[in-house]
Amino acid sequence: MTASILIVDDDHAVRNSIQEFLTILEFDTYSADSAESALTFLETRHVDVIITDIIMNGMDGLQMTKIVKDKYDVDIIVITGYTGNYSYEDAIEKGADDFIFKPVRFEELLLRLKRVLRERALTQERTLMLERLKELAITDDLTKLYNSRHFYNQLENEINRYKRYQRPLSLLLIDVDHFKEYNDTYGHLEGDKVLFNIAKLIKSCLRTMDTAYRYGGEEFTVILPETTCNAAMMVSERINKVVKDDLFIEDDKKDLSVSIGVTEYLPGELVTEFVRRADKAMYIAKEGGRNRTSFLLP
Ligand code: GH3
Ligand code: MG
Ligand code: MG
Repeated sequence: MTASILIVDDDHAVRNSIQEFLTILEFDTYSADSAESALTFLETRHVDVIITDIIMNGMDGLQMTKIVKDKYDVDIIVITGYTGNYSYEDAIEKGADDFIFKPVRFEELLLRLKRVLRERALTQERTLMLERLKELAITDDLTKLYNSRHFYNQLENEINRYKRYQRPLSLLLIDVDHFKEYNDTYGHLEGDKVLFNIAKLIKSCLRTMDTAYRYGGEEFTVILPETTCNAAMMVSERINKVVKDDLFIEDDKKDLSVSIGVTEYLPGELVTEFVRRADKAMYIAKEGGRNRTSFLLP
């Protein structure tokens, strides 16, 4: 992808010559004749690098550098005179990524620009990799739902939110019925596919603020913020129906269902007590004949 560069200088000749030089090298270039107009430009446009003079009418390049670095992900090369009132240290302290002396030599400018862009690409790659790692650490491999570690973290977060806002919070615990039998009949690999498909069906029943997790084995949980037990029952019964009706659309010999326990958070209780009650409700659904939802209030 072409890097985009914003050149900021109130000296029209310098600004134009740098812009011309970089445009010939096929960079995406923009220019601004003051720090103020550069800041206005950045409100609506993104650039990778800013090359700016320091001494300009109005706001100077270092003040602008500080504002830009606090607000945007942009690298900044400042142009400085040998005899100016600003030192290299000033520029770095304000967040400049590199600097270049006047009069600007294009070869040097290009070298510094390339170095800044290379480091920028490396940083972006590292950030992406870290994000991916974080995602992997909270994702269940088989179903691509969140894993149980993330479940407990998120439930803890939701409970803390509850303490601040006292909004209702509900929990579903979902267990696949007679799944051992299914595995024994069709094999473990077929069983894995079923778990993946059930996970998809569960997600299809949720609102964006609800989150689904693989709790373990053939068990799933769903956290429903801002939801009373009554409303959670409706979501839950929809999951019952969708799994029963849609899991094996083309294969009517196979038959699977889920049993679901629903409960609502009781102020002051521990995470473990909350989860245990959802589990108890799930067992009531099992005892009641499976393929159903049961609730248990505190
Ligand atoms: P119930 O209706 O009482 O829940 O019966 P069940 O057979 O589902 O319950 P049980 O706890 O006896 O068995 C759970 C089964 O889930 C046993 C195990 O083989 C299966 N299972 C757990 N994790 C996985 C998995 O990752 N893949 C597959 N294919 N099966 C799994
Ligand atoms: Mg189970
Ligand atoms: Mg089961």
